[in-house]
Amino acid sequence: MNHSDSERVASVLENAGFIKGSEEEAELLVVNTCSVRQKSEDKAVGYMRQYKMDHPQSKIAVTGCMVRQTGDETNSKDKLLKLDPIDFVFRIEDAARVPKMLEPHFPKHDFEVFADSFGSGSIENYFRINPKTQNKAQVYVPIMQGCDKFCTFCIVPYTRGREISRPLADVVTECKAHVEAGAKEITLLGQNVNSYRDGTEGEKCFARLLLEIDKFHELGLSRVRFTSAHPQDFTDDVIDALASMKTHCPYIHLPVQHGCDEMLRSMNRNYKIEKYFDIIGKIRKAMPDTTLATDIIVGFPGETEEQFERLCDFAREIQFDFSYTAIYSPRKHTAAARMEKEFIPRPGQRERFARFDDVIREIAWKKRSKYVGKEVEVLVEKSEIMENGLYKNTGRSREFFEIWFEAGRPYVGKEVQVLLKKQKGYVFAGELPELEIKGMKMMGS
Ligand code: SF4
Repeated sequence: MNHSDSERVASVLENAGFIKGSEEEAELLVVNTCSVRQKSEDKAVGYMRQYKMDHPQSKIAVTGCMVRQTGDETNSKDKLLKLDPIDFVFRIEDAARVPKMLEPHFPKHDFEVFADSFGSGSIENYFRINPKTQNKAQVYVPIMQGCDKFCTFCIVPYTRGREISRPLADVVTECKAHVEAGAKEITLLGQNVNSYRDGTEGEKCFARLLLEIDKFHELGLSRVRFTSAHPQDFTDDVIDALASMKTHCPYIHLPVQHGCDEMLRSMNRNYKIEKYFDIIGKIRKAMPDTTLATDIIVGFPGETEEQFERLCDFAREIQFDFSYTAIYSPRKHTAAARMEKEFIPRPGQRERFARFDDVIREIAWKKRSKYVGKEVEVLVEKSEIMENGLYKNTGRSREFFEIWFEAGRPYVGKEVQVLLKKQKGYVFAGELPELEIKGMKMMGS
């Protein structure tokens, strides 16, 4: 989401006459912050302090989750402004009016022509900003913002606010424009992507949106992904839609957070483990090759050893392909931060993290090893030239496996068939099929 927000901010700034440059020579540095953990905030502040010391002439603007948490409507009383290095702050939904906010800081710059390019600051105008995509083949499209779920550990409803969805027609129009510009993969974004509705008033209709976007397969769209989904809204119509799509990738990221009902209740996750099993069963029945990733929190307040063991058993039973595992850390203003009496000491949390990581690794690596010797389709994301003159091309398969292969040229933005030769942990090393390699040799590459 932050990556996508940054693309929209960059677009507004370019329309206001700014040119993207290096950090070294920037007159304006925009820091897009994350506040999922205290550590993220501390890192952002540390970075800005150092930057201001090294570049006292540069202006620093801050946006992202740290702003909402401390800001008010006008930003004039934002506590962040009390931090020395920061010149001004703006909420991400106010991105459209950043040129107006910049005027007093850049008196010599002519904003007249550009100031109203995107209208005033509002979430609707934010969504309308045409992003400056860094990679035309892989694009991110926000379809909703905010969250109404209020999990007890999470700061998002306080930083991103309540759920607001974009009109379906706007999302479809943006996706079509990306595909016509060469997008092969679209990732739909939202804090709760599958609780999407057509605009703020409409019915929930994530399945319908998926099917509309799938029609762009004819124009060259190959892959549709989405993140993050919530089990509560993973309804049968979404599964049916995914199973029928030409552009669906056999990879689902469905955060469960824990493997026992008492912990889920304490986290205010409004489903039971049985429901999660039910959803995964239906997904695997409809799309048997689907790989499954999740989010897990270990060491949540009050988690007993027995509950932790149940989490490990649950992971073994479900057979995850990956887990984004986090050690619980309290965030101010959240309900779980007030459960101090039940906090688990850090060493105990770390020990559980390591044990859970072992469980996931054992399952995931074993599952992955079955892919060695198979050919998969890779969309290449980056290419680096190596000392031997060949290029190291790295990308993802439809199953979301990270794969790299050597070739005589960069393949960024291309989809290629790759034969998986070796697996090292979660990553595969592969090679191009023989014909293509022979072709390269004949061409002397
Ligand atoms: S559903 Fe996700 S974004 Fe919303 S409160 Fe829970 S963890 Fe946070």
